[in-house]
Amino acid sequence: MTQNEPAIQETAALVLFSGGQDSTTCLAWALSRFAHVETIGFDYGQRHRIELDCRGALRQGLASIFPQWINRLGADHVIEVDALGRMSQTALTRETEIEFSASGLPNTFVPGRNLLFLTFAAALAYRRGIGDLVGGMCETDFSGYPDCRAQTIEAMAQALSLGMDKSFVIHTPLMWLDKAQTWRLAVELGGEALIDLIRVQTHSCYLGERHQNFDWGFGCGTCPACALRASGWRKFTEEVKA
Ligand code: ZN
Repeated sequence: MTQNEPAIQETAALVLFSGGQDSTTCLAWALSRFAHVETIGFDYGQRHRIELDCRGALRQGLASIFPQWINRLGADHVIEVDALGRMSQTALTRETEIEFSASGLPNTFVPGRNLLFLTFAAALAYRRGIGDLVGGMCETDFSGYPDCRAQTIEAMAQALSLGMDKSFVIHTPLMWLDKAQTWRLAVELGGEALIDLIRVQTHSCYLGERHQNFDWGFGCGTCPACALRASGWRKFTEEVKA
């Protein structure tokens, strides 16, 4: 047990787990708190399925960091939501340049994506007898994504609870953290072993580039996702040294 490990809740949680840095940190957070943790991922025809492909290795890696996490990690569910990919004409699902639209939103924004994901997650959680959902939505580095706002998430939790007549809590442990603080949370949860796992096995790059190995992980090094990850890592490592 790590120094910072809180008391375990005897309830189950379902983590929205894409295989990225944020959702992997959320999965570690959930494993340190809940007796039983399941994961859900969404295949919506992403231009790069690398994130989804990282999930298995990450789940295995997390289970090996702490012996007690092996028994807590439950089933993984991958839901195909092809319709979302077909509907969305954005950079993540089509071969278009990543650029910022006149509204200020990057065209990596898939309208309604998190709302749909949370609805699918709640529908699955309902059947699995789970009331706690965990997601990596973050308002600090949120690139202007309105479905990552705390207010949106609170409204969704209320709508899902009312609409399914079951109480849902949506936990967003990263909501007010920047990328450096997200790395710091990972250290608190799983020490160097978790940092190494996230650094090597998670994927952020919008271009799906995994040939170049930077100190913050694999990527192209120049797209907005790589730039954000690199600057967060720099800030984190400078704070550690300070
Ligand atoms: Zn990149």
